[in-house]
Amino acid sequence: MSPYFILHPPSRQSWATADPHQWLLDRRDDDLLAPARERLLASPDDPERCLRVALRRCGLALIHVANEQRVLVRHWSGPAPDLRGWAKQNSSAKANVVVTFEALKNGTFFVHQDDGDTLLCGERTGPDFEWAVYEARYAKRRVHEVDDSDDAFASVTNFEWEKSLHERLTWRVLKASWNAEAVPCPNCDIPLMLVAFDWRMGMLSFRSGRVVRVCLRCRRRFEVAVQEPLAWLASVLPPPLRPSHLRLWAAVPIDWGGLSLGRGRVVQRAGRGG
Ligand SMILES: [Zn+2]
Repeated sequence: MSPYFILHPPSRQSWATADPHQWLLDRRDDDLLAPARERLLASPDDPERCLRVALRRCGLALIHVANEQRVLVRHWSGPAPDLRGWAKQNSSAKANVVVTFEALKNGTFFVHQDDGDTLLCGERTGPDFEWAVYEARYAKRRVHEVDDSDDAFASVTNFEWEKSLHERLTWRVLKASWNAEAVPCPNCDIPLMLVAFDWRMGMLSFRSGRVVRVCLRCRRRFEVAVQEPLAWLASVLPPPLRPSHLRLWAAVPIDWGGLSLGRGRVVQRAGRGG
């Protein structure tokens, strides 16, 4: 891999090069470098000056991949450039990389002791997330196991099934969803693993449904809003595995035929607050 990349943050385009100075001179007639062209022509033999004028006038950033664990990014000023698109394109989307941003205008350095937030999309999971347990279950997602009706501890929900009132999803429900959908990880492109979903009310109205997935490779967490939670659920769960109720102020029945709530009698279950 070339050690240097020229990055244009607004378009997320990047170009690999072994010699940034020569790259600028070779492309000084490109539209991208038009704001710096005059200076590039005036002092072509001064690498540092050429670079500074390109970063300042063209809004570019220079990425130097020093080694597997260390990246230096030079930009002119303002917020640090978003590196996630570049990292994915160049197989650099990983955690445990120290990224140093140098803002040339002020001569300031910002060292990011990275645990994934700079080069990876998504969020960290909590420290208690049981990766090994979920990984083992995911590996057997097409196999029936005798304890598939057990609750998955980290899979919180406010949907309810007639036989499961623990505000957790069972492995059986999770396995069905894993087999039904293939949402790619923004970092790795492998299918994400669904771990939780719910649909709650705000002060006056329903919020969007919330779906949480994780990636078994990069171990990042992705939470997305779903505008039609019942339609989405119907697309990932066969009828026998669909929840019967949604827990709001009470357990509200779900009408799967109409993909709506509330037909039939609202069920108040003893011992459960609203
Ligand atoms: Zn991933």
